[in-house]
Amino acid sequence: MATEQAECGKLETYLQTLGHTLDRFLTFQHPDAMHEPARWRAVLERPLPAFGIGIDAVMEEMTRYLIPNGSAIPNPGCTAFITTGATTVGALATLAGAVASPQRLSLNAFNFLEEQSLEWLAELLQLPPAMKGLYSSGGSVANLVALGAARQYAFERVGIDPARHGVRGAARLYASSASHHSIRRAAAVLGLGRDAVVTIATDAEGRMIPAALERQLEEDRDQAMVPVAVVANAGTTDTGAIDPLQAIGTLAHRYAIWFHVDGAYGLPGILDPEVSPLYAGLELADSVIVDPHKWLGAPVGIGATFVRDRALLQRAFTQEASSYLELACTQETAQHSMDSLGIPYSDFGVELSAPSRGAVVWALLREIGADGLRARIRRHNAMARQVAERADAHPNLEILQRPTLSICCFRYVDVACPDLDALNARIHRALVRHGRHIPSTTVVNGRLAIRPCFLGARTGPDQAQALVDEVVALGAQFTQGPELDPDTHNSGTMPDIER
Ligand SMILES: *Cc1c(COP(=O)(O)O)cnc(C)c1O
Repeated sequence: MATEQAECGKLETYLQTLGHTLDRFLTFQHPDAMHEPARWRAVLERPLPAFGIGIDAVMEEMTRYLIPNGSAIPNPGCTAFITTGATTVGALATLAGAVASPQRLSLNAFNFLEEQSLEWLAELLQLPPAMKGLYSSGGSVANLVALGAARQYAFERVGIDPARHGVRGAARLYASSASHHSIRRAAAVLGLGRDAVVTIATDAEGRMIPAALERQLEEDRDQAMVPVAVVANAGTTDTGAIDPLQAIGTLAHRYAIWFHVDGAYGLPGILDPEVSPLYAGLELADSVIVDPHKWLGAPVGIGATFVRDRALLQRAFTQEASSYLELACTQETAQHSMDSLGIPYSDFGVELSAPSRGAVVWALLREIGADGLRARIRRHNAMARQVAERADAHPNLEILQRPTLSICCFRYVDVACPDLDALNARIHRALVRHGRHIPSTTVVNGRLAIRPCFLGARTGPDQAQALVDEVVALGAQFTQGPELDPDTHNSGTMPDIER
């Protein structure tokens, strides 16, 4: 069966098989991948194949052993972290791009949608006028790119081109203690150093305290340090808190420092009229990021950075003219898609080869429109408030952080329990093992919280209600009933998927 010949067509046939298996997966009737890992590892764990088995045999392994043992993340009951499964049109557009436009460059319809979808996002999310965007793999890289622009701006002002000559002297970044860790990593990658990030205190709601920022800026004013950026959150990862953007942005401008807003998760919340006033001050931002692979339901691998001036990104990130790219193009009016690379996105960020992500965002927005997305976001935010209302009303539940967006941090309480952190950790572990509701946990003001983040298009109000019910039941069981090992409640009795 050894053959060089990979199948390069017959998608219609294979997609039918794949679609059938994926639809079945999405019914979540299958046991968790770790229920009997030996069953799939026995097939998948192999030495490097010296000879191929052909596509039909690969499809057999894929549909029987790989897909049914996939991730729990697309499960509508999974509200862990800030992640979810792709909607159908997002998955289809990703596949379409993989086949019909394997690179985002060159003048074709996919490349066209790259820019149009970025413009749509900027308008949808009410970004400052004329902001231009760039896709990358996700929020971490989007933050890196935005802070690369900030670094370029800050050092050029003191006569240094950091992209060319490197960073000279000490730099400062200001971010709250609730900021995403990718901010510190970006500081490391950009040669500023993790220690350049000064942590600004937050209030009890997890929002940066502007007075604390001002004190720090005043203190640093006469130091020989280059202030690179003030980073604010439009929706923190832990609790969804929105920093006071107006006050922080005003301070950043007063001290002439780049103002970056990390809205990877929470920026689409601006569509919900109940919280949209909290975004006042967004118009002061010099850069903004958002993750279409969070609330928009895109397949993982799509983040977006927006800046006022892409020329700054170009100075920060140009890969410089290369004869194998530029000389393949023409200065004449394009008559063929390969006459030009199109907008030079690869000079604005850290990727050259990159998938056509714009078509995915286009498909998502074209399918449900701004109105559909608004409805989803309102539904999710309402679900978090619903959990809070239930917790308010129940004597054994306590809210640790009231929801701003679609995250609610709560816990089970019992007066007789000496260690509520341990109790809630145990409840959480049992939830995960049961597999119907999979929130994550975080620590709010020193206390362990159960933390659902309602984000997935498949997740509905019944999930919010049933999660609370299960927490209450488990809490009662662990504080009153006999000791039960969560492992004995494994989903092993659930029906097996067709094998
Ligand atoms: C999720 C998140 C990130 C990181 O995004 P990835 O896509 O996971 O790299 C950055 N900032 C915030 C506020 C986030 O919630």
